[in-house]
Formats: sequence, structure tokens, C-alpha cells
Amino acid sequence: MSNYVERCIELCKQKNPGEVEFHQTVEEVLHSLTPVIEQHPEYEEAALLERLTEPERGVTFRVVWVDDAGKVQVNKGYRYQFNSAIGPYKGGLRFAANVYPGIVKFLGFEQIFKNSLTGLPIGGGKGGSDFDPNGKSDAEVMRFCQAFMTELYRHIGPNTDVPAGDIGVGGREIGFLFGQYKRIVDRYEGVLTGKGLTFGGCLGRAEATGFGISWYAEEMLKANGESMKGKVVSISGFGNVSWGTAIKLRDLGAKLITISGPDGYILDEDGINTDEKIAFLLDLRSSGKNICAPYADKFPGAKFFAGKKPWEVTADLYIPCATQNEIREDDARSFVERKVKFVCEGSNMSSTNEAIKIMQEGGIIVGPSKAANAGGVATSCIEMGQNAGHTVLTAEQVYEQLHGIMVHIHQACADASKKYYGKYDLVAGANIAGFEKVAQAMMEQGLV
Ligand code: GLU
Repeated sequence: MSNYVERCIELCKQKNPGEVEFHQTVEEVLHSLTPVIEQHPEYEEAALLERLTEPERGVTFRVVWVDDAGKVQVNKGYRYQFNSAIGPYKGGLRFAANVYPGIVKFLGFEQIFKNSLTGLPIGGGKGGSDFDPNGKSDAEVMRFCQAFMTELYRHIGPNTDVPAGDIGVGGREIGFLFGQYKRIVDRYEGVLTGKGLTFGGCLGRAEATGFGISWYAEEMLKANGESMKGKVVSISGFGNVSWGTAIKLRDLGAKLITISGPDGYILDEDGINTDEKIAFLLDLRSSGKNICAPYADKFPGAKFFAGKKPWEVTADLYIPCATQNEIREDDARSFVERKVKFVCEGSNMSSTNEAIKIMQEGGIIVGPSKAANAGGVATSCIEMGQNAGHTVLTAEQVYEQLHGIMVHIHQACADASKKYYGKYDLVAGANIAGFEKVAQAMMEQGLV
């Protein structure tokens, strides 16, 4: 382990006390960069890692709005603009009760490497709020989004910083945020992505993250002499990421048998593969109700397991798609005992660092989220290009580009790990391949 890497990890912990998710990603990424850092002593002289782990700018602001009962509500708003070496800051907004600087910084830091891996000119940023849209009326969500944008607008712009969605921020929220931005600045510009299709949104964006994950997982299987056809797959979550993943897995001939929600998970051994089943889940999700128990009531043969994670079922491939750290040490140990071969992360930082170590040492091929879920932000960049060029692509054109990007990302991860570690290790490879371009750009741009 290089002293420089160790020092920078410690420094980051000292400077960001208590922000454990941020520490987790910095530790994971910097450790795996060790062989690159050792070959480039000039990086230490230029304090490259100290700069990489310090956001270029971060704003915290007050968001004041009035709920339907007439009560004044106060939330926190954040935007961390992490790195603009290769393009304008780009990354989503997360609205969830547990959002605090440690979450926003972990997401922003991961976004630097993810965005670089896409091969597109986008830097890394992330934002959000501790506002939870679940259970709020549309009018409340609108008033919150308008209040949030009334501060955020001064920090963003189509060539400065382009937010998008994440957990708790979907098409409805992006629409309200865009409307308020346009009202304030009086310009019609592509300042957000994931917009509605009638006002600059990109065909295919809604399903892009999930499609990309399935295509990345397919490349993992192919590189190891297998195919997706006939594979039994277990996924968690049922947000946008899981929805797109479910549809594409079906196209690729796999059988999806689990999904999960806040109430537990369902196991449907017939496969969650008909339009009727997928539509039923989507309807329930948009109604804001729990999804699993009603699914098991409606489709006989499906079983509901209250309060449990789906990782206990037997499958060929597991894809966590809900939130961070959903695969922990005990899950990883159980995978190794059961001789699982493939885990592909869909949600950002799906696994703890210890879980990744256990899985990899146990011979499991792990696809890291910053590579596997990069299809969402890649399609956001396609949306930015459309907005800037006042054009529209067809869904087929978007899918074709996205598929090519995912194949390329998998290859870049495999090549980078081969070069520096002499083996197929997608976790290290994603960090290295994402880092190399950003590092070179930072070095060429001087001490900024
Ligand atoms: N929140 C998504 C992510 O984690 C999308 C970001 C974007 O499209 O800018 O990559």
C-alpha cells in the first residue's frame, strides 16, 4: 500500500468527520488506484488525490415550503460540485429522509469515475435534500421543488452543472424543477436531464440505467464463457433502476424471480416477465403503496417474505438495485458458501467494502455499480447533446449508442485491471479506467 494513498484516505476521514459513506467510497477507490499512483510520482507532487477527494464547490441551503395543512416546513438542500476536469458537473439529486453530506459526497465522488467511464465529456456532481416525497401530495412536491430550485438555479446551468434524478426524484420532480428554473432565468435550456418527452427529454432515458445494467451483466457473463439466456436472476428494489433491468433481462432471455420493496421481497418462480406483472408493479409504485404483498395476493404462485432481503433465494445472478450497502458481509459469505458466480451492482455502492472483498476472495465475479449503472448518466449526456443541438434521436438510436457504451465500459474495466493487476477484476478496473482520464485532464489543466 502506498503511503501517499494511506495518508490521503486518513486526511479525507479527518476533514469529513462522521461521513461514513463518503469514507467508504474514498477508501475503496483510492486503495485500488495504488498501482497507478506508484507509477506516477508526479501525482503526489501535484496533490492530485487531495484535490480529487475535495469537492470543487459545495452548497448547503435552506428550503422553506408550506404543506397542505398550511404548516411551514424547513428542509436542507445540497449540491456538491465535485470535479469538472472533463466536463460540466453532472449527476442526480436524491430526495430522501436520510440524505446528509456523507451521502451526497459519496454519490458525487462515485459520479466522477462513472461519468468518466462513459467516455463522454461530463464531470461529477450530486445533490439532494432530506425531503421525502413519499406520502406527499403533488401540490406539496411542487411547492418543495419550486423552493429548492429558487436557490439551486444560481449554481447550475447547461455548461456549468446539469442535475438529474436519483432516489425520490423522478419525472414529476424534474418537471417541477425545470418549470421553476425556466421561470426564474427566462431561458429554455437543457439544465436538467430526465425531462419529460414534451420538453426536451430523451427517448429511452427512463429505462436507460436498467437497460445498461443488464447489458453490462451480459458482458460479464460472456467474458466468462456464459450467456444470459435461461439464467435465473434475483434483483432487489422496484424503482426506475429495477424496472428497466427487469424489462431488458426479459429481452435477453433471463428469468427474473424476485423484486423487493420496503415491505419485503417476492419470489415468483414462474418469472416476473409478463407485461401484466410489470405493469401491476409500476401502478402500485406510482401509487406510493407497498408493492410486494399486493403482488403475491394478485399472482398465485408468488410468495411474499415480509421484512427480508431477496439474497437468500437460489439464482445464477444477483443484481441489487435498491440503495447503498444492501449487500453486507453476511450476505457475501452466504453467496460464497452457495457458490454464487455473478453479482452485478445496480444501485450506487450496493455492497460494503468488506462484502466486496469476501465475494472476490470467494471467487465471485462482481460488477461494480459505477460501471454497471453508468448507462443512466450516459443517456443523460445524450439528452444534453440533443438539447444543445435542438434535435431529437429515436429510441432505437439511443439504445444503439447506449449498448455500445456499456460494451465499451466493460472492456475498459477488464483491460485496466489486466494492465495493473494482471487479472479480470472489474471493481479495480472501473476505478482505474475512470481515474486515468480525469487524472490526465487535471494534470494538464494545472493547479486548480
Ligand atoms: N442518479 C443517476 C446516477 O446515479 C443519474 C445521474 C444523471 O443522469 O445525471 O448516475
